[in-house]
Amino acid sequence: MPRPAPGSARSNDAAPVLDITRRVEFAAAHRLHRPDLSDAANARLYGPCAHKGGHGHNYVLEVTLRGQVDPATGMVIDLKELKAVMEREVVAKCDHRNLNLDPDFLRGVIPTAENVAVGCWRVLERRLPAGLLHRVRLYESPRKFVDFYGASAPRNAGVPLAGAAANGAVRTPPGATPQSRRPRGVR
Ligand SMILES: [Zn+2]
Repeated sequence: MPRPAPGSARSNDAAPVLDITRRVEFAAAHRLHRPDLSDAANARLYGPCAHKGGHGHNYVLEVTLRGQVDPATGMVIDLKELKAVMEREVVAKCDHRNLNLDPDFLRGVIPTAENVAVGCWRVLERRLPAGLLHRVRLYESPRKFVDFYGASAPRNAGVPLAGAAANGAVRTPPGATPQSRRPRGVR
């Protein structure tokens, strides 16, 4: 039994709810390319990310869990646990790899920041305590990031939840919001 805090009769139902975030980094190569389009059309669509030889990005992945503080530990989750899951499920599969070829969770999709973020959500959700995963934010560069709140979130989830996504975030376009288990990667 957790010891009641002095001066507080707080039950677990009233425990504060917090967002807690862990950040990891990985460097990976990719090429954005739709085989059904010409090279010129791909270049117009994806810009330099369509270059034939591929190129690299220094990705930053931030994973936010939202949950009640456990009165026994004073924590939402042990961050060591979250870090271990992120390292095993994402970093080990992506760091110094080719996102078009290597990570099993990106098979069959065009590795845009949007699709990588959705893929990260899916592998992390399976390994984290149920219901805690709140947001996956993936930076493809210091000025470009995407936020994903899960398939069940409203399509413009960034607006009511935090406002952070409104500040320069590139949101998942409506057509890419995953309703199926394996989106085929067309933006
Ligand atoms: Zn790129």
